[in-house]
Amino acid sequence: MLAAMMSAWQLARAVREGTRTASEAVEDALARATRASHLNAVLHVADAHARERAAALDASLARGQDPGPLAGVPVAVKDNLCLEGVPATAGSRSLEGFVPPYSATVIERLEAAGAVVVAKTNLDEFGMGSSNEASAFGPALNPWDTERVPGGSSGGSAAAVAAGIVPLALGTDTGGSVRLPASFCGVLGFKPTYGRLSRYGVVAYASSLDQVGVLTRSTRDAAMALAAMAGVDPLDGTSLAADAGDLRALGEGSEGPDVRGLRVAVVSELSGEGNAPGVLEALDRTAARLRELGAEVREVSVPSVRHAVATYYLVATAEASSNLARYDGMIYSTRLGEDGDGQEAVMRRSRGRTLGREVRRRVLMGSFALSAGYYDAYYGKALRVRRVIADELARAFEGADVLLTPTAPTAAYRLGEKLDDPLAMYVGDVCTCLANLAGLPAMSVPAGRTAEGLPVGVQLMAPALHDARLLQVAAALEAAAGDDFAPLAPG
Ligand code: GLN
Repeated sequence: MLAAMMSAWQLARAVREGTRTASEAVEDALARATRASHLNAVLHVADAHARERAAALDASLARGQDPGPLAGVPVAVKDNLCLEGVPATAGSRSLEGFVPPYSATVIERLEAAGAVVVAKTNLDEFGMGSSNEASAFGPALNPWDTERVPGGSSGGSAAAVAAGIVPLALGTDTGGSVRLPASFCGVLGFKPTYGRLSRYGVVAYASSLDQVGVLTRSTRDAAMALAAMAGVDPLDGTSLAADAGDLRALGEGSEGPDVRGLRVAVVSELSGEGNAPGVLEALDRTAARLRELGAEVREVSVPSVRHAVATYYLVATAEASSNLARYDGMIYSTRLGEDGDGQEAVMRRSRGRTLGREVRRRVLMGSFALSAGYYDAYYGKALRVRRVIADELARAFEGADVLLTPTAPTAAYRLGEKLDDPLAMYVGDVCTCLANLAGLPAMSVPAGRTAEGLPVGVQLMAPALHDARLLQVAAALEAAAGDDFAPLAPG
């Protein structure tokens, strides 16, 4: 019999108080992963690693040592994060068989705080996608309705948390890949300020946009995880030395939720037609809830929002074409060659056969945008529009503490529904990619269900480094919603 699913902070407390061992917590998570294997959320189970770490934690507890605030908490991490000795594919055939010789800083820090990685989760190849259907290993399924996508690209992590395999998972978010699947799976998804978390050991997609994020079913769990991972890392020159004391206080539960007097602005360009049924209702419910709790809610216009998707896809693909150039079968990635092949033929075959269709499309788009003669018209212009978007968002924050939008224009759609129309898929990133373009913290918070019973989230954004403010607002919404906040998916 599996023990009842506890949140990360409750579980860590039980382990530190000795009412539960780290090994029991890890065995439960491994059993849950097996039971939910039909979801295809997990690409590799890190059972040997997890059992060894759990035994070490239990031994240190037995010696009277405190293994840290996340003691014994099983976590799942997206398979584009490196964990020493455990395969990392980034969802790509080109990295099949790659076993990283070192761990990502975020994983080292999470485990230093007592957490235990139990699984690597499914994703769209190199993080490129919004539905998980671009994974070379088949899509993860949405635990609320297995005929639907879990969202992407961190869909395996979102499904793992929603299905109760683990209380906490890591994803990465370049244009919405933590927040969108969080919304589709009914969990919380937090993308911190760019630079809050180190990118060392993260398989790069678009380096000026990539940020690690967390998926949980409780605000306090998200705060604890962020507090454990935040801070400057000499191995990532873009990481920030920002103080994480406010996150720590939230993680300890010492700051009660309070949004009285908070100024909330709904972005008008994102809250009209163009959203599927159920999405605006979720937005209105959240706005009404925040008003009841004492916040002021008004509207603000951010006109450049209509250029966000085009700008994002130019910047992201340009950076991707450069970052992915290394997977050519020479030093990195699967090499496919035949006797007598020259270097170019090997590269061509290796890249052509091991990179998926969506990845090749992105590399082509990005190379085109960067090519001589087109650079100014596409990449250069995208950088200028990126600045305009950031400036307009900064202006919106002059009259607001947080911005409120849908997380995505739809709830989870059916598998295959958008596969033939890449642009339709890209447009789904319209709300989320803003925060990446401007480097802002943003989170998707559960906001109830659609008429069809599918979960739907809303997005909150704050000015850079005000990560804790978002968690405060989410904590207030969580307290008001009670057990309905982020329930486990049925089944
Ligand atoms: N859906 C977006 C893309 O395909 C965002 C992906 C992400 O955040 N990794 O680029």
